[in-house]
Amino acid sequence: MKNIIIFGAPGSGKGTYSEEIKNRFNMGHISTGDVLRAEIKNGTELGKIAQGYIDNGQLIPDDLMINILASKYDSLPAGKGVIFDGFPRTIAQAEALKKMLEERGDSLGMMIELIVPEDVLMFRLLRRAKLEGRADDNEETIRKRFEVYHNQTEPLSRWFEAEGIRHTFDWGVLLTKEGMIEAILAEVEKENA
Ligand code: AMP
Repeated sequence: MKNIIIFGAPGSGKGTYSEEIKNRFNMGHISTGDVLRAEIKNGTELGKIAQGYIDNGQLIPDDLMINILASKYDSLPAGKGVIFDGFPRTIAQAEALKKMLEERGDSLGMMIELIVPEDVLMFRLLRRAKLEGRADDNEETIRKRFEVYHNQTEPLSRWFEAEGIRHTFDWGVLLTKEGMIEAILAEVEKENA
């Protein structure tokens, strides 16, 4: 399977669709947000550094993220394809990912972009705050994360377009979770045919 980068704003469903793809195609999955939350829970040095950034809705510095990502990638079985969920979030991370994969005889594969209106994102994140109690799912931090997304991450969409691997899925057109899942799985299948 080709690698997959799941790309979208906070609350756009990256985790949900990653799970669907992973289960259908038996791929590896790296969620950098989950990795960082596990480090915080375990009280590691990395967790201590990450906590301040996450609580403020800021991105963890690129150098640190790139090292974490490379060691996670190397710990997964080779040849099954990996879903990158929440990474890259900056152009520097995207360039480092491309280089890291090429050094290992691999490539970026395909990028899946999720487009969801901001009022829907806010509704979902506030609902998740109630259900899961994530510390960074409060209105103030969510606004900060949207701002960081617009400034640092969204410009990457064009980087992927220039790489010729961007596939966009629009909530405003597909309208339901099932509609999104069906369209995404069909596209992944087509890319690997
Ligand atoms: P997520 O679960 O993907 O929404 O990530 C939660 C938080 O973890 C983000 O708001 C960032 O503070 C941090 N984070 C996750 N992935 C990255 C990344 N690729 N680069 C920098 N920070 C990240």
